[in-house]
Amino acid sequence: MADLTLDGVRKSFGETPVLQALDLAVPDGGFCVVVGPSGCGKSTLLRLVAGLETADAGRILIGGRDVTRLPPKARSAAMVFQNYALLPHLSVARNIAFGMEIRGTPRADIAARVADTARILRLEAQLDRKPRQLSGGQRQRVAMGRAIVRDPQVFLFDEPLSNLDAQLRAEMRAEIKALHARLGATALYVTHDQIEAMTMGDILVVLNGGRVEQIGPPEEIYRRPASTFVARFIGAPPMNLIPSTTAGSLAAGAPARGETLGIRPEHLKLAPGAGVEATARRIEPHGADTFIQATTAEGVDLTIRLPAGNGVRAGDQLPLLAPPAHLHHFGADGRRIA
Ligand code: ADP
Ligand code: MG
Repeated sequence: MADLTLDGVRKSFGETPVLQALDLAVPDGGFCVVVGPSGCGKSTLLRLVAGLETADAGRILIGGRDVTRLPPKARSAAMVFQNYALLPHLSVARNIAFGMEIRGTPRADIAARVADTARILRLEAQLDRKPRQLSGGQRQRVAMGRAIVRDPQVFLFDEPLSNLDAQLRAEMRAEIKALHARLGATALYVTHDQIEAMTMGDILVVLNGGRVEQIGPPEEIYRRPASTFVARFIGAPPMNLIPSTTAGSLAAGAPARGETLGIRPEHLKLAPGAGVEATARRIEPHGADTFIQATTAEGVDLTIRLPAGNGVRAGDQLPLLAPPAHLHHFGADGRRIA
């Protein structure tokens, strides 16, 4: 197995820069999730590592080997595509075997590899079926099977769960993590879904317009977002971001620093006799928790997250307090200052 390093990797399409001097190090066996909005360069990043695109500058190393100029098949990186890229007229077995057949792998070896892969992915009973006869989750597993049979040093996942419904997504998140633990390969996984990002990565990279906003363990990024972009993107519902000038007594006398004050919905407290008055506008039950949209007298909209059974109703006046220990301060450039 091998670590993966990107060193100053740049890519433009025509005049448009898509990735700007990207540095990234994923340790051997690590699971790195790159998260960012649609169009920020996630697929391009994976395609560069896979060798489906060529970097304009910088180096890509797999296990210390410079693969920047190598063709895809020489890189030992296998990609699981967003749309699965299955061949509809071929059985599951032949979909998994396809690459090996092309390369002229002996039939007995192919059969053994397919059987192994089907066992790992619990697809033994589906080997003779066509993709259309499979559930979404099974199709997803076949797509992974096509990567696994190549026995790569690096797995590249391009939003592999985005076509699945919410329940299946949750199951497959756990399945991919378990598979990763079993195979021990290095993984680079891209998604626009911040739940996948928070739950799956040992290392999280937040990408914005082809630039890295922040790299770190998910909890650290949640606890100390480096910018307003990260603060908004990671966490649901997102962090409340308000101009410091309108914070008033919400921050309990803590001096306003910088341009923007941030407070997570779960950190706003109801504090009778303290804080600011806000009117509850909308109550959204989420099972264990309730999300409350409220507006202060100064016209600041806030989201509050309270445990269910809190008794708050639309129209209620809420005394809101933001404990200073939970405040985030951002400068005029959107970067964190405290
Ligand atoms: P993501 O996967 O994060 O949604 P992509 O990496 O697919 O983003 O695309 C990033 C940007 O690069 C987008 O603006 C996209 O339109 C552009 N782009 C991607 N591939 C090409 C290409 N082959 N030619 C021109 N522009 C491209
Ligand atoms: Mg993409």
